[in-house]
Amino acid sequence: MEQRQLGRTGRDVGIIGLGTEHLEPGPEVLDRVLGMLVDAGGNYVDLLYVKPEYWETYGAVYRTHRANLVAAAHWGDGQRFDLDYCQACFDGMLAALGSGYAEVAMIAVIDTQEVWDGFVQQSLERLWRYQEQGRVGAIGMSGHDLSVALEAVQSGLIDVLMFPVNLVGYGNEGDAALYQACVEHDVGLVAMKAYHGGVLFTVDGRPSGITPAHCLSYVYSLPVAAAVPGPKNVDEMQATLRYLEATAEEKDYGPVVGDLPRLLHGKCVYCHHCLPCPVDIPVGWMMWLVDMTDRGTVEEARPIYESFHTDVSSCTECGECVARCPFGVDIMAGLRKVAELFG
Ligand code: SF4
Ligand code: SF4
Repeated sequence: MEQRQLGRTGRDVGIIGLGTEHLEPGPEVLDRVLGMLVDAGGNYVDLLYVKPEYWETYGAVYRTHRANLVAAAHWGDGQRFDLDYCQACFDGMLAALGSGYAEVAMIAVIDTQEVWDGFVQQSLERLWRYQEQGRVGAIGMSGHDLSVALEAVQSGLIDVLMFPVNLVGYGNEGDAALYQACVEHDVGLVAMKAYHGGVLFTVDGRPSGITPAHCLSYVYSLPVAAAVPGPKNVDEMQATLRYLEATAEEKDYGPVVGDLPRLLHGKCVYCHHCLPCPVDIPVGWMMWLVDMTDRGTVEEARPIYESFHTDVSSCTECGECVARCPFGVDIMAGLRKVAELFG
């Protein structure tokens, strides 16, 4: 597997890493998937779960593979920006890893200026002490907000950034500026959501023609050190590793990248090009909720809907979002469904 330097950390990582978020439960699955990663020459593992219960079950598996891994242990779970909670969980992870050490401490899910200004700056004070004690190598940050990520990269305070990178961002000037900043500041860029949560692969249950090889090939055309697809099981890990044997023709994303609106016609890809809405309805997120309820239950989605503090019935049907959507999504039908489900 091709190795790339993880920014100024000086470490080399395999271009295919592992995201652990979606793995089916059970130590056996984790053990096999980690074995496949290492056998293929990969090493970068994003350790998303921070709670002690997780590490009691899975710590022994990680310890088995530890010597071959570059571990990015999360500082926080993106929900509780509470320094003592983060530190207690982080200490537990370092102990469970067996090494008492993480190559990267990843400050997790930083998406607002307020959290960057407060929680992150306070977290850095603590993480610098871990570095002085030799318990942490580099400091990373994950997030989804361009402006916060750009400020973090330009600040010189982080060595690694984990950010969504996928075909949907093709041609986006903001994304391009972020990649350029990572190069200029020698920040290791780790691509999450390389498959955009799998939404690029099917439209109404039919294959879209976009493949994992297209997605990964596009990601690696950028200054990305590693991508961390999140397989559910061994089969999905194999599908990702097949990239390593893909032909140049299979990897050629050129024919799909300029044709996404046709290939994905009618499918929301949560690109948010439909905004702004005059009455502040977060249209893309409403479409995401519709998709979420197709896969799961309304009750699971309800707290998320409520967290947006929006009222879809305030839509004036002005049509501005519909006109802006490059993917021809039936937004009005989606909003009606949201009103029906949650209104
Ligand atoms: S509705 Fe269209 S423009 Fe809005 S997020 Fe979905 S795909 Fe993007
Ligand atoms: S049609 Fe409704 S959701 Fe779309 S921009 Fe107009 S008010 Fe907003």
